[in-house]
Amino acid sequence: MKLAMILDRRRCYACHGCAVACKVANATPPGTFWTKTITEEKGKFPKAHMEYTPLICNHCDKAPCVEVCPTGASKKMEDGTVQITTSECVGCQLCMEACPYGARYFNEKDSPTYWAETGKQDIFEQSRYKQHPAGTVDKCTFCAPRREKGLPPACVQTCAGVARIFGDLDDPDSEISKIFKQYKPKPLYPEKGTSPRVFYIE
Ligand code: SF4
Ligand code: SF4
Repeated sequence: MKLAMILDRRRCYACHGCAVACKVANATPPGTFWTKTITEEKGKFPKAHMEYTPLICNHCDKAPCVEVCPTGASKKMEDGTVQITTSECVGCQLCMEACPYGARYFNEKDSPTYWAETGKQDIFEQSRYKQHPAGTVDKCTFCAPRREKGLPPACVQTCAGVARIFGDLDDPDSEISKIFKQYKPKPLYPEKGTSPRVFYIE
């Protein structure tokens, strides 16, 4: 199995719904965005236009974050995804330095919550913040908990522009395989040599 994602930049209009859906699904701390969309202005008047680039962990086949991890906390899984075993992470952050995509986040505080300063940490935060313990590194998991329930990643399900296609590239009948064959999408920064599992249609 080779789980992968295609991001169709022609269809993304930077609504940031994916970032919100990811936050709800994964209860990530303030300032942490496992998926985000970069907005850039390109060209000059009268041909100026906006370009949108959704970013996410690329679940690289030659993942430098896995290679540098001294404890084996970062692993390449059989399904093609790269995952972190939180209990094995010592927070050295070598993986963050190694990742050319800036896809990893360090959990600095014990209980970083959106409403901590108000003293009104809500039930959602109380129940979820322990998933991101202080002193460990996190990143996109391709929504592993949702996939265990047979659901697609939250960003894929919510994308109003239908700009995200997710699935198994080893299955020739999957939607992602057919779209891959038709559009021949390319990864970001191929020169980094990490063999990403996230591809872009321009
Ligand atoms: Fe590792 Fe970064 Fe590649 Fe994700 S994008 S697998 S964190 S090197
Ligand atoms: Fe491995 Fe954790 Fe160090 Fe990253 S911070 S290299 S996951 S031990």
